[in-house]
Amino acid sequence: MGQTDGARELRRAHLGICGSENAIIAMLPPDDRALLDEHAEHCTLARGDTLFGPGEAVEFTYFPDVGTVLALCLLLEDGRTVEAATIGCEGMIGGVVSCGTQPAFASAIVQIAGTATRLPVRFVELLKDRSTTARRLFDRYADFLLSQALQSVGCNTFHPIDARLCRWLLTTQDRIGRSEIPLTQEALAQMLGAQRTTISAIGRYLQEQGLLRFRRGTVEIVDRKAVEAAACECYETLERQRIATLGGMTSKDLK
Ligand SMILES: [Zn+2]
Repeated sequence: MGQTDGARELRRAHLGICGSENAIIAMLPPDDRALLDEHAEHCTLARGDTLFGPGEAVEFTYFPDVGTVLALCLLLEDGRTVEAATIGCEGMIGGVVSCGTQPAFASAIVQIAGTATRLPVRFVELLKDRSTTARRLFDRYADFLLSQALQSVGCNTFHPIDARLCRWLLTTQDRIGRSEIPLTQEALAQMLGAQRTTISAIGRYLQEQGLLRFRRGTVEIVDRKAVEAAACECYETLERQRIATLGGMTSKDLK
């Protein structure tokens, strides 16, 4: 077992729940975590996997571990996708509000591969029925998800692509807990709804300025403060909202 695997196992042992590193699960009371231990399963998600699509039944709620990033995206008729929200180890996706009683409106896609805990939605409903803490926690997260979607309306409409790229990289670094993000420029372009050549030109400029470093399918945040300065206001706006609604939990709190 490598050092990273060892650290991961230590975190799991510390949390003692489903092998999970997810903040929502970590905040649940012991009785609720026991229900997850009994009915949830740990799964591996590959990049590009679609967990559910528009109009489909939602069967599972996913709680990503540290390092896994999911996206809630709108699929347009011409095949293009627009990202509305990012979900990492701070959150959950799938039936958070409806518990699967309604078909999905958007698509949930795996942006950065990793592991997650998944729970059949009927048990999410059971948790909400029997546990005030779980219901409040899920409601708070649903509120934060809505905030992300609302902020994305303004961001996608008015903010320049370089500032949106910086915003997205900062959010992703927070979710995965490391500065090297395993994504190609092609994937970044797809996520931001931009041309590959546009991302390539912006990437080259930001690399020359010493903010980022691109190599072999990864982008590294070299100068976090400079990337924060270059990002649009949406990063800080949503960070304030996340802290207000979820108590400031990040991957660092789980280590
Ligand atoms: Zn923005």
